Amino acid sequence: LELKEGDIVFVHKKPEDSCAPEMGKVCAVFGGSRGIGRAVAELLAQKGCRLAVIARNLDVAQTTARHLGAGHLALSCDVSNEQEVQKTFEEMQRSLGPISYLVNAAGINRDALLLRTKTEDMIAQIHTNLLGTMLTCRAAVKVMIQQQGGAIVNIGSIVGLKGNSGQSVYSATKAGLVGFSRSLAKEVAKRQIRVNVVAPGFIRTEMTAHLEEDQLKKAIPLGRFGDPHEVAQAVVFLLESPYVTGSVLVVDGGLQLMT
Ligand code: NDP
Repeated sequence: LELKEGDIVFVHKKPEDSCAPEMGKVCAVFGGSRGIGRAVAELLAQKGCRLAVIARNLDVAQTTARHLGAGHLALSCDVSNEQEVQKTFEEMQRSLGPISYLVNAAGINRDALLLRTKTEDMIAQIHTNLLGTMLTCRAAVKVMIQQQGGAIVNIGSIVGLKGNSGQSVYSATKAGLVGFSRSLAKEVAKRQIRVNVVAPGFIRTEMTAHLEEDQLKKAIPLGRFGDPHEVAQAVVFLLESPYVTGSVLVVDGGLQLMT
């Protein structure tokens, strides 16, 4: 069978092939319908986890959840809306039980030089990228304290660490995520809850579809954009690493090494 780029490959795994410690664990992936979040959901489902795939567009979330196989849940939620986040956690608890893992991959960008950035675009980025993560983490920590443990991975960005012209507001939200995650990691470590950040570079998703990879790849030491599955590996590594908390794992093909 010859595969072309863009072909979808369904991998059927027997339960006994799965990584035993993950079997049956409930994982919430906000922004799980496409891109990096979808790749995380796929990897966790392969390991035997039960997923809640969450995004605003329910149709797309349902398509992803169906692709994962039976027993997964699709939910519509705007992460920046406190009531919707609360309802989403109630629904997950009812349908899947208490969550062990939370991944925050919901994010938006409104790239522009600061002088050309509208206030509503600043607010939208802060509300989705930063407030949204705070709301889901608060709701998850409540459940995880009762469960006496859990793990959270928030998706930041290399630009949150290095800065980028034309992305001052987006970078601020991603830098904010680091401060938030490291502080929360200190707050909840005694409860055996871990909080880490993955900071990707350029990854091929809808968010970067308008960018010219041929031009930009010259600045990346590994010479290419990353694949969402390459970020998912790092996310799952942090979820599964029992002695790692408060870390920021950069997954950027070496971009951070450049001046
Ligand atoms: P995509 O645009 O491909 O996917 C974004 C996901 O977030 C979708 O599932 C989208 O679904 C969901 N989403 C967006 N806004 C909301 C909201 N208000 N409430 C709930 N869900 C929402 O992006 P990527 O996969 O590329 O990005 C994932 C994360 O990684 C983001 O935080 C992004 O900032 C970060 N990142 C991405 C990089 C890249 O190069 N792609 C680089 C560095 C960081 P829907 O629209 O239906 O709500």
